[in-house]
Amino acid sequence: MTDSHVLLPGSWLGMMGGGQLGRMFSVEASRLGYHVAVLDPGEVSPAGEVSALRIKKSYKDREALDQMASLCPAVSTEFENVPAASLAYLAEKGCRTAPLAEAVSISQDRNKEKAFIAAAGVPVAPHAPILSESDCQEAPAELFPGILKTARLGYDGKGQVVVDKKEQLLRAYLSLGKVECILEKKLALKTECSVIVCRGLDGETATFPVFENHHLHGILAETVLPARIPDETEALARADAIRIANAMKYVGVLCIEFFVLEDGSVIANETAPRPHNSGHITIEACMTSQFEQQVRTMAGLPLGSTSLKTPGIMLNILGDAWEKADGEPDWARVLAIPGVKLHLYGKAEPRHGRKMGHATCLGRTLDEALERAKKVARILQ
Ligand code: ADP
Ligand code: MG
Repeated sequence: MTDSHVLLPGSWLGMMGGGQLGRMFSVEASRLGYHVAVLDPGEVSPAGEVSALRIKKSYKDREALDQMASLCPAVSTEFENVPAASLAYLAEKGCRTAPLAEAVSISQDRNKEKAFIAAAGVPVAPHAPILSESDCQEAPAELFPGILKTARLGYDGKGQVVVDKKEQLLRAYLSLGKVECILEKKLALKTECSVIVCRGLDGETATFPVFENHHLHGILAETVLPARIPDETEALARADAIRIANAMKYVGVLCIEFFVLEDGSVIANETAPRPHNSGHITIEACMTSQFEQQVRTMAGLPLGSTSLKTPGIMLNILGDAWEKADGEPDWARVLAIPGVKLHLYGKAEPRHGRKMGHATCLGRTLDEALERAKKVARILQ
């Protein structure tokens, strides 16, 4: 972003990507009185469906990018694999792009990302880039047992192989197709957390309370807010997230995934230059949602309060829920549970492992929210 000009409600905001993150952004932006244009090549577009304009073209399409640039003074992205060159092109055309292309390119490459986080003074797992067969021979012994991850395009645990011994590394590297990789030491995790940090045009920062995350088969299954971690660990993670956002001169909503170790220390794992699945809980549980913060940062408005309104649990609803129900899940039963808010993304096919929606289970206490979440899980998971 180049200027600090405030875009008032009534302005157009652009979104690269038409998935659920774009959809929830669009709902919040519309509530605030903005018009949203979505660029998305897909047949079905969860975000396009709830937006003022949908452009069904490729992310690299010149005409589509020109249209976005002429209509929208600010453009954001909902996933980190939008071509960085397209964001740079929009910026050239005078569009405020948040996040900046540079921040996106850091998150796109695990080697670059780890080096950047470490340089910002935040601890990361011991690691080594694996870019060739000879790097496999030279990998330090102390990184085993380790995890070999593709440097690019990995998500939901895809593109990762556990490598117990050094002798298995070459085979793992070949199995991933000899693409650029990173080898990380496999750490003993006490729990996994994430922090969402918002950074405005003027450098103002705000973090949400820490989210506690539980994964199943590499996919986020459940987020607990507030995280059940010591206060010092909470403070450490939030301070580290701000440090990373400042080092990136980030503008927008940035998520940092952290590992919490037995001793309460935190290790930054990866970044996502956008709202994050774990932050969906902010829609109901915090004063301002992560999507409203995204709107505010794009528009150059002050950040909203991130404080907790009520404890809650977010349960992801995958396509598997349709398999379990042998058809459409019993939404009426889910909605009969008090404090449960249902979000369905309007995707066409409920495929195995596909994120179709989520349920936020609120309670006066975390225990009450957990009880309600258990009931929802029994129906859906
Ligand atoms: P993805 O992009 O698929 O989310 P991650 O790097 O977050 O990739 O890895 C997915 C999951 O694998 C993590 O949430 C964590 O449970 C586990 N994991 C990843 N790296 C490590 C590590 N160095 N030590 C222990 N567990 C790890
Ligand atoms: Mg992850």
